[in-house]
Amino acid sequence: MKVRQFGAIAAASVIALSLTACGDSAKDSGGGGGGDFKIGIKFDQPGLGLKEGSSYTGFDVDVATYVAKELGHDAKDISWVQAPSAQRETLISTGQVKMVVATYSITDERKQKVSFAGPYFIAGQDLLVRSDESTITGPETLTGKRLCSVKGSTSAQKVKDKYPGVQLQEFGTYSECVAALVSKGVDALTTDNTILAGYASQDQYKGKLKVVGKTFSEERYGIGLKKGDKAMCEKVNTAIAKMISSGEWQKAVDKNLGPAGFKVDSATNPPKQDACA
Ligand code: GLU
Repeated sequence: MKVRQFGAIAAASVIALSLTACGDSAKDSGGGGGGDFKIGIKFDQPGLGLKEGSSYTGFDVDVATYVAKELGHDAKDISWVQAPSAQRETLISTGQVKMVVATYSITDERKQKVSFAGPYFIAGQDLLVRSDESTITGPETLTGKRLCSVKGSTSAQKVKDKYPGVQLQEFGTYSECVAALVSKGVDALTTDNTILAGYASQDQYKGKLKVVGKTFSEERYGIGLKKGDKAMCEKVNTAIAKMISSGEWQKAVDKNLGPAGFKVDSATNPPKQDACA
């Protein structure tokens, strides 16, 4: 292993440890009183799913809270469970959570294991680089570069399938990738533009990171549910449609993605929901 790579991994591990140290483990991190309606979200994605102390914020948190309410569960009945990318199918299929609302793209492969309501948002894969980076302008310019992404994500899979000349490093969470990018352990980070915009606008990274701004996939965010629960899927789709038609969806977009200056693609958003299988 190259020294530089080791440095990045070591740095990322330190960050991961410190994040763990200041956060509760998934099972005792109940949101607003630790209710029994368990929902999987991300804990480290600003603007989408972010845990700070006992407060949970982000677009996914607002969508999940709205949908839960429509299903008859008040905010105080919700327990938020951390759902890293690679663990989402397992959390659902083992019944550890009732649903996952975690920048979770609807794919045919995942549909073998879980069902999806939605989509409730359409994002696209992009690249995050250091502000002084000028040679990385899109995925085709990554050959020979060190790229970070997350295990079990469509983002990492896309790179493996389409850009084999890239040195891909897969971590467990995107915040570990951001730490590696800032410490120059990697040259770029790839995932959804929504997630990248959130990191780029965080106070500690302001002026240090930039989103390339050339998306190269369509990521249709769904709400992951137990496979085959069509009745639940239909209820969730009804709730999503109501969130959109009532104006609450737009409010949640403005509140959570607005501060990062994220421009929502209005050609694809807000989306129509797929029929439940
Ligand atoms: N939306 C993509 C996915 O579901 C990337 C973001 C993530 O890993 O949560 O894999």
